[in-house]
Amino acid sequence: DLQEAILYIKDGPDIHPKTRLEDMNIIKDIVKKCGMKMKIVSPPKDDKEDHEKIKDVTKRLPAKPEFLKQRPPVVTVMGHVDHGKTTLLDSLRHTSVAQSEAGGITQHIGAFTVELENGEKVTFLDTPGHAAFSAMRARGANITDIIVLVVAADDGVMEQTKEVVKLSKTYNVPVIVAINKIDKPDADPEKTKRELGHAGINLEGHGGETQFVLISAKEGTNLQELAETVSTQATLMGLKSDYTGPIEGVVVESTNDSKRGKLSTAIITRGTLRRGAVLVAGHAWAKVRALFNHAGYPLEKAEPGTPVEILGWRELPLAGDEILEVESEKRAHSVLHYRHLQAQHEKAEADFEVIRVKQMEHDEKYKAERDARRKIGRFKVRRVGPRPKEYIDDDSVPRVNVIIKADVHGSCEAILDVLDTYHDNDKVRLDIVHYGIGDVTESDMELAKLFNAVIYAFSVNSTKIALPKNVKIHQIDIIYRLVEHLKEEINAKLPMLD
Ligand code: GDP
Repeated sequence: DLQEAILYIKDGPDIHPKTRLEDMNIIKDIVKKCGMKMKIVSPPKDDKEDHEKIKDVTKRLPAKPEFLKQRPPVVTVMGHVDHGKTTLLDSLRHTSVAQSEAGGITQHIGAFTVELENGEKVTFLDTPGHAAFSAMRARGANITDIIVLVVAADDGVMEQTKEVVKLSKTYNVPVIVAINKIDKPDADPEKTKRELGHAGINLEGHGGETQFVLISAKEGTNLQELAETVSTQATLMGLKSDYTGPIEGVVVESTNDSKRGKLSTAIITRGTLRRGAVLVAGHAWAKVRALFNHAGYPLEKAEPGTPVEILGWRELPLAGDEILEVESEKRAHSVLHYRHLQAQHEKAEADFEVIRVKQMEHDEKYKAERDARRKIGRFKVRRVGPRPKEYIDDDSVPRVNVIIKADVHGSCEAILDVLDTYHDNDKVRLDIVHYGIGDVTESDMELAKLFNAVIYAFSVNSTKIALPKNVKIHQIDIIYRLVEHLKEEINAKLPMLD
């Protein structure tokens, strides 16, 4: 009943490569003959020594407080569908590009920074929705410091609003509420506030501490106030980073630009990134050739909390990958080699687990088969072919007559072996009147009629010919099912048997 064979190759000093190849070919041949698919798996390599030599790059120890400086907060905009997340981000992005330099282009690179009148900055991740937030979290990237929860004042608290509240509590990320669409005639901010209270968000002035701002994302009303409120919250949180030493950061987005090449947007979390730095992220590495801001202008350097587009990747890293700086290209290569080995090792472990489970399933099935066999193991089997007429007419001992047709010689032998293990019994007799390889034929039917025999078709076709009256065919794919059927047949013949 197997459909897939997994060939697990164990390497060892005592196995000559040639022998292994020969063995493998023999096994491949058998598997092919059985019509199964084959998957070859290598065991998890135990090259701890190699790993020791190359090793991954690790993050630095936390910086001493005297090295820490204030940094911009990183904000994710979330909320129910159609409540205005995209419109809010678009309006803020336009403001930020207009601020950054005259003639800048409004482009989506995954994040941008808004500057306040007092010179402070707020960084917004440019992918709305909690799917993006959860995806980053799932990859271990916790870059969101504050969530801006957008709630449309005409619609109030909805399903996804509640989900965001739950998410913020789970991850302990503070929320600032933006009550949006206040320009609409049917907007009801007071009702929205009450609903927020019921959803577990207690607003400032309503018995709680959560800040809120009434905005119109579409008309640009109170967007600066929103950014200022975020900034105040950030100051309260005392968000600080170490601006010196090797770089640490997180990939926010990656693109393959037809003109500029492989680009990724990152948020630096530690150190000050400059051209020439060698970075690794996931399974990619870069020698930084150029840095750009969100308006497309080249930068000299990128500091913590600000988004930066990095040019110079050899492969593209994935969103959520952690960026770490290494001292040389050579070191970048060895780190990636280590990670590659590590990934292979993990895959092999997972494959091995599959094999273990299959082995267990197989063992259980084998046990069930053996038990079934033991239960009816007291009937005599004779493999003698068709009997003379007088024998057929001899009714003194009840008999079950059987015809076996199988797809290959191997399975036919296996079935006969199973039936052969039955012991003598003078109350009933199990006779195999015919057996053979191939589909069920007219002559099999004739024999079945003549001997009142049951035909067991093991993985062969029995549908090509018409089934005569009184002839039973059982289509079997698993040997122990045959045993079960046989037991039923016998019980039917001998109701007094237990
Ligand atoms: P998202 O699904 O949360 O990203 O929502 P969108 O930003 O796509 O907005 C959904 C709809 O609401 C669009 O038709 C927007 O034009 C509209 N919208 C968003 N903000 C406002 C607003 O402040 N006032 C009004 N009147 N409409 C808005």
